[in-house]
Amino acid sequence: GKGDVHGEVVVLGSGPGGYSAAFRAADLGKKVVLIERYSTLGGVCLNVGCIPSKALLHVAKVITDADEMGSHGVSFGKPKIDIDEVRAWKDSVVKQLTGGLNGLAKQRKVEVVNGYGKFTGPNMIEVEAEEGAKTVSFDQCIIAAGSEPVELPFIPHDDERVIDSTGALELKDIPKKMLILGGGIIGLEMACVYDALGSQITVVELMDQLMPGADKDVVKPLAARVGKRYDNILLKTKVTNVEAQKKGLKVTFEDEKGETSTDTFDKVLVSVGRRPNGKLIDAEKAGVAVDERGFIAVDHQQRTGLSHIFAIGDVVGQPMLAHKAVHEGKVAAEVAAGNARAFDARVIPSVAYTDPEVAWCGLTETEAKAQGVKYAKGVFPWAASGRALSNGRSEGMTKLLFDPEDDRVIGGAIVGTNAGDLISEVALAIEMGSDAVDLGHTIHPHPTLSETVNFAAEMFEGTITDLM
Ligand code: FAD
Repeated sequence: GKGDVHGEVVVLGSGPGGYSAAFRAADLGKKVVLIERYSTLGGVCLNVGCIPSKALLHVAKVITDADEMGSHGVSFGKPKIDIDEVRAWKDSVVKQLTGGLNGLAKQRKVEVVNGYGKFTGPNMIEVEAEEGAKTVSFDQCIIAAGSEPVELPFIPHDDERVIDSTGALELKDIPKKMLILGGGIIGLEMACVYDALGSQITVVELMDQLMPGADKDVVKPLAARVGKRYDNILLKTKVTNVEAQKKGLKVTFEDEKGETSTDTFDKVLVSVGRRPNGKLIDAEKAGVAVDERGFIAVDHQQRTGLSHIFAIGDVVGQPMLAHKAVHEGKVAAEVAAGNARAFDARVIPSVAYTDPEVAWCGLTETEAKAQGVKYAKGVFPWAASGRALSNGRSEGMTKLLFDPEDDRVIGGAIVGTNAGDLISEVALAIEMGSDAVDLGHTIHPHPTLSETVNFAAEMFEGTITDLM
């Protein structure tokens, strides 16, 4: 029909995985078509994920930092928050980036087709566009359909006071009393934002610690800080019911002993995980297998069961992170273009951009113990870091795990200011096969927080005898 298009490589979904794949394939000389249901490119990450959350977390950090300057002799007074302007600023950051993607697509002659795409055969996608249905045929396809927030059956999700991360980032208002249902990275980042803006926060988490997945000792400084700031942190507790009432959302909690209690909130943020969009694209019509949960299995070259159809990003599995999606997208595009490439990353760093930040990569201590992996460790407490003390934020910690056979770095975790930036050195060390001496003998600039990686390696070697 009119407007039907053909791509040598067609990418379904324009999140970080999809646009990275599309751009790399185009750079390698392929005629590329990029299908996206929304009017802006960038997917969850740019529109309703990584970027808007970080813009708001920056606002939150400045508010709390300014407040805490009081104890260093400088007082700013109570902040005046214009919620409309905060929102506008956040939106402008998103717009700058998504707009930039349009330019990058044009530059590379990547054809963007807007509309909802579904497979109709092994070389065909039908796109439901505003101006009518379009057929997009392909030689090779890269599925980058991403994920969406999980909903719970006993929660009235249609009540506008029940929100997901997208709703939280919309920043409609500042609720007086807010429940964060799920103490993972996304929930805790949003808690951090709304706490700084003035909401009273309760966090409820099923597991026995916040941010399950990270080692308990690493999460501790964050838990200690938010424990003081928030109304309530309920661990080993589940929510069994949420009832929409006129005066608020009545929430029923059940603790590990089976005892129930209730409390009423102005808003409930449901942040209990994300589910892949694999079931929403009629993948079976192309012959691509999708598992019960909606994930698409791929090999080390990102190929699905069909050698001409690839899948990348959140839709192929955990961890659901933008940098993983980007890396996989580039691998898929290069393989599609005939290059010898495979996904062989040793580590995918995880970061919670909370205050303090929590970051880890490679093996965690919890995993090492569970898997019976022998390890040695070097730990450096930030209370002994001149820079952390000067920043007035000495509650951090840098921990490195080593293989006791050859002293190579096998894992690392950092909690403290800028931990997310600092973890890259540990990731590089693991990818390079560095050992404790490499990290301990590399001259790090003084006084920086990056020195703590150097010091943690020296602690392991036993060369630091007195702390600073
Ligand atoms: P997505 O970004 O989900 O993009 C998929 C795209 O495909 C979407 O635009 C969707 O509209 C489109 N699409 C899907 N199906 C179709 C279809 N049938 N037809 C047309 N278009 C379709 N990760 C980090 O690494 N760092 C962070 O700081 C971070 N913060 C986050 C904060 C929040 C609040 C959330 C929700 C997530 C965050 N993430 C973060 C996770 C990150 O956003 C995702 O891992 C990442 O976006 C996944 O990229 P993707 O390309 O796989 O898919």
